[in-house]
Amino acid sequence: MPYKFTFDLSRIPRFFFTELTKVGYQKGMHKKVGRAVHEIIKRFKIQEATGLNLSDAVLLLEDLIEIQARNLLEREKFVQTSKRALFLPHCSRKHMDNRCKAVFNPSIPSYICAHCSPDCLVNKAVSLAEKKGYDIYILPGGSCVPKILQTRHYEGVVGVACGEETKLGGKTLKGTGIVGQAVPLIKNGCANTSFNIETLLDIL
Ligand code: SF4
Ligand code: SF4
Repeated sequence: MPYKFTFDLSRIPRFFFTELTKVGYQKGMHKKVGRAVHEIIKRFKIQEATGLNLSDAVLLLEDLIEIQARNLLEREKFVQTSKRALFLPHCSRKHMDNRCKAVFNPSIPSYICAHCSPDCLVNKAVSLAEKKGYDIYILPGGSCVPKILQTRHYEGVVGVACGEETKLGGKTLKGTGIVGQAVPLIKNGCANTSFNIETLLDIL
């Protein structure tokens, strides 16, 4: 399910995410984190850069902090996993129409990237993850995840998605014993979205 607002953090320096990681460490100290969120919004001029109102900016940053905190908590277990999958969102493909030559296989269900555009973010992510031995899925929606996890048995999964989909993914993994890591979208909108490829590489 997408946010009710659109955002684009792609012009915000990557240092912003380092700051979020620090705040992620502090999670649980709610008052301090609440103050830190407002400070980060001010310091990185998030409202000016994105046009978001304060409450949407707070919601977005709280979700990003939640993702960082969960990644940190699960990291040690994740690095010990060997059979892994990468879930990529179809909305980060360079093209959402028939210029994308990916073939959709409904029995998986996943798109299979045909590597038609060297500058396509999904193509870059697929190439990186293939080298690292991941099984890769390009999903039309988070609802595909349970079916894949039931039929293939993974120890670790990495999911790239917007904050709301990531939260749903976290719920899907709960109680399965599968260890998750997430890479948040830095631009949402369900088409032409983007994520940071260096962040993905660090997580993989
Ligand atoms: S590189 Fe892959 S995902 Fe990107 S547009 Fe081409 S087939 Fe689609
Ligand atoms: S932004 Fe992408 S990942 Fe998020 S709900 Fe829309 S299509 Fe799914």
